Amino acid sequence: MYQNFSLFDGTTDHFDTDAYFVVDDESGKIIETGTGSPAPADQTVDLQNKFVMPGLINAHTHITSDVSGKLDALGSANLNPIVATKIALDNLSDLLKHGVTYIRDVGADFDVDIQLAKLEKGGHIVSPGICASGRPLAMTGGHFCTISYEVDSPDEARKAARKALKNGADNIKLMATGGVSFGGESPNDVQLTEEELRAAVTEAHHKGRTANAHAQGTEGIKNALRAGVDSVEHAFYLDDEAIQMFLDQGTFIVPTLIAVYGISDRGEGRVPDFMLDVAREVKRAHMESISKAAHAGVKLAMGTDAGTPNNDFKNDSAFELELMVEAGCTPLQALQAATINGAQLLKIDEEYGTLESGKFADFIVLENNPLESIKSVQGKKRIFKKGHEVL
Ligand SMILES: [Zn+2]
Repeated sequence: MYQNFSLFDGTTDHFDTDAYFVVDDESGKIIETGTGSPAPADQTVDLQNKFVMPGLINAHTHITSDVSGKLDALGSANLNPIVATKIALDNLSDLLKHGVTYIRDVGADFDVDIQLAKLEKGGHIVSPGICASGRPLAMTGGHFCTISYEVDSPDEARKAARKALKNGADNIKLMATGGVSFGGESPNDVQLTEEELRAAVTEAHHKGRTANAHAQGTEGIKNALRAGVDSVEHAFYLDDEAIQMFLDQGTFIVPTLIAVYGISDRGEGRVPDFMLDVAREVKRAHMESISKAAHAGVKLAMGTDAGTPNNDFKNDSAFELELMVEAGCTPLQALQAATINGAQLLKIDEEYGTLESGKFADFIVLENNPLESIKSVQGKKRIFKKGHEVL
């Protein structure tokens, strides 16, 4: 039993003081929660009036990306499955130690994320839970085509989506526009067409899985929305019509503000000039778009695009929450984006994302109240996965 703490369980808008919950050792699930004085338990951990919230869910990572720059880059022709797996395991360990207890990976070399997701589910590795996409789908020569299935018609998109699902993907990642981190393309370039996107989304949904789209320019974002994706990633340029479409359809945005910040504010001398120029241009528009979306009540999920330049697997998930607040989210919206909303987007909300009876005891213990200062999520913290402390 854990007792004597303030609890944000993910279902309310505040912390309840003097809380406790009881965790079943075998299943790692919460079997009772409450406030006040509980009945005695086999083992009791006193959390000393600290602040407990659900573990962070990062809905946008690239775990085979080597942020040290010492090994082969994500999508590089020289990368091999053994090195990619080593990179991924190190990144997963960093994520967990910094409070991320579940991820959705949205583009990994060699389907490494799919294999590691199976190992984690079987209890063979200690890591955040993984919702895996394997390799994305892109048009020939499109964004991230180096690791993607290259598809150039709805039929090819359908075939590739079916292959990815056969390989065990939980989610289908689609490239609807160009991006910042590849030369020769821009965020406004339309890439996979609405019809190609729809064919892949339909296959994912037929199998009870999700689909998401990298989409930065307005036209590509609307293509993705019309195609029925579950979330749009990045969403740099949103007009009023796009925001209304998000609201009408209940589609999530995963802003990944840190991905742009990593280039615009940390990139000087570390990334090619073409990337700096694009990132600085898009940063202001992006912050404005997310601000409008947050105020309008569009559902947001937290994701960082970890693995892009100067965007690591350590405290940048917590830093993303600060950037979301800077963009105009309330601290509550930021916490919900990283907990209950992330779980709903990944369709894991029956077992994760909130701290209630029947859910896994994935939680973090903070020194200060994050609803008062969102920076406290970046501070000193203890991490628990399925009721066991991560050391
Ligand atoms: Zn990404």
